[in-house]
Amino acid sequence: MSAVETIHVNGAWRGAASGAQREVLDPADAKTLAVVAEGGVADTDAAVAAAREAFDEGRWPHTPVAERAALLRRVADLLQRDREAIALTESRDTGKTLEEGRVDVDDVTNAFRYFADLVVNESGGRVVDAGSPEIHSVVVYEPVGVCAMITPWNYPLLQASWKIAPALAAGNTFVIKPSEITPLSTVHLMKLLVEAGLPAGVGNLVTGTGDPVGARLAEHPDVDLVSFTGGLASGTRVMEAAAATVKKVALELGGKNPNVVFADACATEEGFDTAVDQALNAAFIHSGQVCSAGARLIIEDSVRDRFVAELARRAERIKLGRGTEPGVECGPLVSAAQLAKTERYVAAALADGASLRCGGSRPEPSQIRPATGYFYSPTVLDHCHGEMSVVREETFGPILTVETFHTEDEAVALANDTEYGLAGAVWTADAGRARRVAGRMRHGTVWINDYHPYLPQAEWGGFGKSGVGRELGPSGLNEYREPKHVYQNLAPRPVRWFKG
Ligand code: NAD
Repeated sequence: MSAVETIHVNGAWRGAASGAQREVLDPADAKTLAVVAEGGVADTDAAVAAAREAFDEGRWPHTPVAERAALLRRVADLLQRDREAIALTESRDTGKTLEEGRVDVDDVTNAFRYFADLVVNESGGRVVDAGSPEIHSVVVYEPVGVCAMITPWNYPLLQASWKIAPALAAGNTFVIKPSEITPLSTVHLMKLLVEAGLPAGVGNLVTGTGDPVGARLAEHPDVDLVSFTGGLASGTRVMEAAAATVKKVALELGGKNPNVVFADACATEEGFDTAVDQALNAAFIHSGQVCSAGARLIIEDSVRDRFVAELARRAERIKLGRGTEPGVECGPLVSAAQLAKTERYVAAALADGASLRCGGSRPEPSQIRPATGYFYSPTVLDHCHGEMSVVREETFGPILTVETFHTEDEAVALANDTEYGLAGAVWTADAGRARRVAGRMRHGTVWINDYHPYLPQAEWGGFGKSGVGRELGPSGLNEYREPKHVYQNLAPRPVRWFKG
């Protein structure tokens, strides 16, 4: 496989049919990191044809689950074998720290193992009581067919794995299109799938842009399901494109996630320190480029001043730099466009009356290495409210907004005042309040006295405009399966509805 043969169709690596290529940039210095094939409609159609044939004519959908699970476990082992190399690739491609890259590899290893365990431990169907010993009625679960997968740039390996592992466990074939900004770890993962013994045509990869490759996948008549992770605007287009062929659609979209802190959580020094520390982590890990980032701090008025002062003091000390350098805590933003977007949101917030508590600009060139990277200082904006674009829209940058409340009802109302509903947290020392508030929050994940953990066994996804469907957990497997009811009459007789 040469540097530009990053398209994988029917078991073979190749360049784009058009010969087009794309430079992938290192966001820490804006220099070329790699060159990949820039696929087009012809490459996408070839990949879908391979996946279609592998599904319709191939063995994979009928392979015993134990064999499919064994393949997933081999992939998990290979991910661990290549852990350092993949973490480095992910760090250089996305800008995240090397340690975050390692965490991602470990997380996806667990996801491959989880879905392997899930399918082998199932009974294989569900017998239904039809009310008569003469009827045998059973619901079985079959693969959906050819699955198209479209993934974003913030967690490329993780998002790809959350789709590929359950899709393969369920017996589907697939075509994946990673983000054109960060395709490299998905290429590595595809090589591991091949090494683990995935049959030709079952897994296909097209590197390229959203339009045409993603758009073609979403509209393609031979694709049965499209699973998309990305922004609201692109997700809406995917849903529209998929409608014409009524294919199944799974969407994991953005979030504008509340981190609600009650004063009682800060009553002790230890509690205060923990809540501040986790609020910092919620907002600024991976420079805020996390769909579940706790970008909205919603804090009880009596502790606001002290809390925000400490938060800003610590945010200013976050060490920015190239993610692979020891001691660096936050890498750059992923692209020049993401940096410009962050600058626009901060300018608009300040014009709308927010007060800047720290950050608010790119670091001085003398203070950051390399100076050409897409860095932006962690920013805390106080005195924010729900009319501001920085509070309503997903910025996907290192920006934390602060809103205050006085009563529990106000806290819940603020937490739910978003068109999204992906994730959120509540911090309180009162167990009853914790359960009450968590119960009223309209978000797919609610953390109590924590922020960010997720488990392969537990569903991930959003209410509202955060998406359709779920990844991980049993529902994450069921996205890739069709339930089929098989009703067998053991003693057939005429029904005589029609008397003639
Ligand atoms: P994006 O929507 O710009 O791109 C996502 C993917 O869609 C890319 O592969 C892109 O090439 C492709 N795409 C773009 N236009 C398309 C079209 N018309 N048809 C088909 N495909 C198209 O998103 P992004 O900027 O790469 O990622 C950031 C977004 O992803 C954020 O909104 C974030 O919240 C979201 N995200 C959500 C989750 C989740 O689990 N809910 C996880 C990670 C990221």
